Amino acid sequence: MTKVGVLGAKGKLGSVICEGIGASDDLELVARIGSQDTLDTLVEAGAEAVVDVTTPAAVMDNLRFCVEHGIHAVVGTTGFDDERLATLRGWLADAPGVGVLIAPNFSIGAILMMQLAAKAAPYFESVEIVELHHPTKADAPSGTAQRTAHLIAEARRAAGAGAVPDATETALDGARGAEVDGIRVHALRIRGLVAHQEVVLGGVGETLTIRHDSLDRASFTQGALAGLRAVSDHPGLTVGLEHVLGL
Ligand code: NAP
Repeated sequence: MTKVGVLGAKGKLGSVICEGIGASDDLELVARIGSQDTLDTLVEAGAEAVVDVTTPAAVMDNLRFCVEHGIHAVVGTTGFDDERLATLRGWLADAPGVGVLIAPNFSIGAILMMQLAAKAAPYFESVEIVELHHPTKADAPSGTAQRTAHLIAEARRAAGAGAVPDATETALDGARGAEVDGIRVHALRIRGLVAHQEVVLGGVGETLTIRHDSLDRASFTQGALAGLRAVSDHPGLTVGLEHVLGL
């Protein structure tokens, strides 16, 4: 049994991950950490790995503690930019054998959606992303939408594709969405929704829409558990659950 802790255990995502760990027969939940708890509990409980599903403001301090104490970490918390990733690499260089897996999305379907979008991207002149979430989500566009945009942009660059065509000359603020790595991303916040995304691609005379729907937060559990099982075999920094799932 691998001993694991959950950081952000009382949150929306943390509580379903705790349930999933409790139902597994190879992972033992030894620490449920909230914002008022001390991270020393992880060491006292002998945690070998954690899942961090807290907040962008809290996650870096949590990770520094884990890396310094030789605890592997699977991170669902969003908000990782190049600067944060470089900081993490620096910490991990001093902690050989420790693995940190940044998983912007724990959903297997969403990971496949991103990969399919990147695969299709070089074959279509146009591509835009529409992400749709519940109205209590704090950040826009979502981490998944931004990662999808980067993957699409990389695939287009590798194929020598030019800029996405757009003749817009006048527009109200926000009408054309945010631009992420040259890809337009539109964010909808709708009561009743969980987490959804469409990638709309277009070429002459045809469109292709790739859509993923997370209907329940339980969809994130399997990916988080797969990350926990794999992270100790991936020392250093890994970005994207697909690298440990063999997708
Ligand atoms: P949430 O319901 O607000 O939960 C966040 C939890 O983190 C709260 O219970 C909070 O505790 C706790 N927390 C804050 N600071 C902490 C600290 N220093 N140490 C330990 N716990 C701390 O948010 P959520 O919807 O679960 O989302 C959590 C994160 O996961 C967000 O960044 C979100 O964007 C991301 N997310 C990722 C995925 C994915 O698939 N990767 C999917 C959905 C969401 P208190 O209530 O005590 O402050």
